[in-house]
Amino acid sequence: MAPVKVTKICCIGAGYVGGPTCAVIALKCPHITVTIVDLNQARVDAWNSPDFALPIYEPGLVDVVKQARGRNLFFSTDVDKGIQEADLIFVSVNTPTKKTGVGAGFAADLNYVELATRRIAAVATSSKIVVEKSTVPCRTAESMRTILEANSKPGTRFDILSNPEFLAEGTAITDLFSPDRVLIGSLQTPEGKSACQSLGDVYANWVPKDRILTVGLWSSELSKLAANAMLAQRISSINALSAICEATGANIDEVAHAIGFDSRIGPKFLRASVGFGGSCFQKDILNLVYLSESLHLPQVAAYWRQVVEMNEYQKSRFSKTVVDTLFNTITGKHIAVLGFAFKADTGDTRESASISLIRDFLSERAYVTIYDPQVEEAQIWLDLSEACPNTPLENIKKQVTIAHSALEACKQKEAVVIATEWKEFREINWQTVYDDMSKPAFVFDGRLLVDADKLRKIGFKVTTIGRGERV
Ligand code: NAD
Repeated sequence: MAPVKVTKICCIGAGYVGGPTCAVIALKCPHITVTIVDLNQARVDAWNSPDFALPIYEPGLVDVVKQARGRNLFFSTDVDKGIQEADLIFVSVNTPTKKTGVGAGFAADLNYVELATRRIAAVATSSKIVVEKSTVPCRTAESMRTILEANSKPGTRFDILSNPEFLAEGTAITDLFSPDRVLIGSLQTPEGKSACQSLGDVYANWVPKDRILTVGLWSSELSKLAANAMLAQRISSINALSAICEATGANIDEVAHAIGFDSRIGPKFLRASVGFGGSCFQKDILNLVYLSESLHLPQVAAYWRQVVEMNEYQKSRFSKTVVDTLFNTITGKHIAVLGFAFKADTGDTRESASISLIRDFLSERAYVTIYDPQVEEAQIWLDLSEACPNTPLENIKKQVTIAHSALEACKQKEAVVIATEWKEFREINWQTVYDDMSKPAFVFDGRLLVDADKLRKIGFKVTTIGRGERV
């Protein structure tokens, strides 16, 4: 069966994945028309904004959109038209975690995937290649196929592929320009292989052929969960070691450096921190836990669950260190929290460790001033309201202030907590910060970002994650 030559792509979901991924496809494939559709009018308006005030912050993204938008890249709320005109459709909708009464208590919420699939089935009038871009539990493609086949019109067929996205927020554009690999999963039938070839040909416009991996559908779906679980496991492993370092006087930087020299381990992703955040790691591991439990593999479920538990422990351990160091109470004390995004170079706050820290500080009745260079004020209030559901927002606002610069945030505070590894926090004038702070002035570095010795010479009392020497 000859592969379809893709000329029109529709992407359902204009979020952190659908937006950048399909903008890059449009840039690299000028012969393909790419329409990204979303039900969220405000989001689509932002993608279309004349001054390129895009709904998400990613280094390099504006340049990509500037080059392709209006040429062969379009953003629209007309989901049905986008579906009807395309020969290949990415499903890139959100797959949040939902609470369930079964097993681990959490599972992937596939409601958005199901609704998008039902919409494709309802309005498609010609054959489509439907591509799972969202991260989904293993065998979700089977449910999608059932929905699509039950509704297909005479003469139309749907081929389903899995093409999980491995970009990391903050480096999305460089990751998409030069991916470690592109993974495409298909049924091992002539039709499945032909659809796989059609999508592979799209990526082959800029991705070297040896980086385009083709596998079975279920392997592809599971590989995405497995990749995120193993990355998060690495962070939880180094964070577990950071606790031992603090208790023994060892230095986590030195330990990471030493073990990273082993070529079987490698140096990447060995940076201790206050804990991982983001919309994916925790969700995907919980997904794997749920899958393991539903397959009656309780020991496997327990193994992966521990990665998330270690992360929770790391966050609360850091909050406790702050309280302990500030003479066992932070009630009425003023703390600056630098960083609210879950990592540097993104405005995304989902599951940010900063939110857990601030919630802990507020529950200890401290006053908190927050500064983040990319997160909007409205987002901060929304996140804090969700994190403290029993406290009305007006009460939260009595304890929390939002600053417009790091220097402003730190002024007259007793302690500064570095929660996100923004480069500008390393480069601020720490002497000025010190001069303006209450004394003794404390810095808690949750990201191994600043030169602790240099700060100590200025006069700060510094606590760094994973280092035995305190204050
Ligand atoms: P997101 O919430 O930023 O975007 C999803 C978008 O889909 C939203 O704008 C929503 O309005 C839209 N949507 C939902 N249902 C729709 C429908 N029926 N029709 C049209 N639009 C609809 O989510 P995201 O961060 O882009 O993640 C998307 C998927 O990619 C998730 O499964 C996630 O796990 C996965 N993923 C995310 C990342 C990441 O770094 N964010 C990386 C790799 C994979």
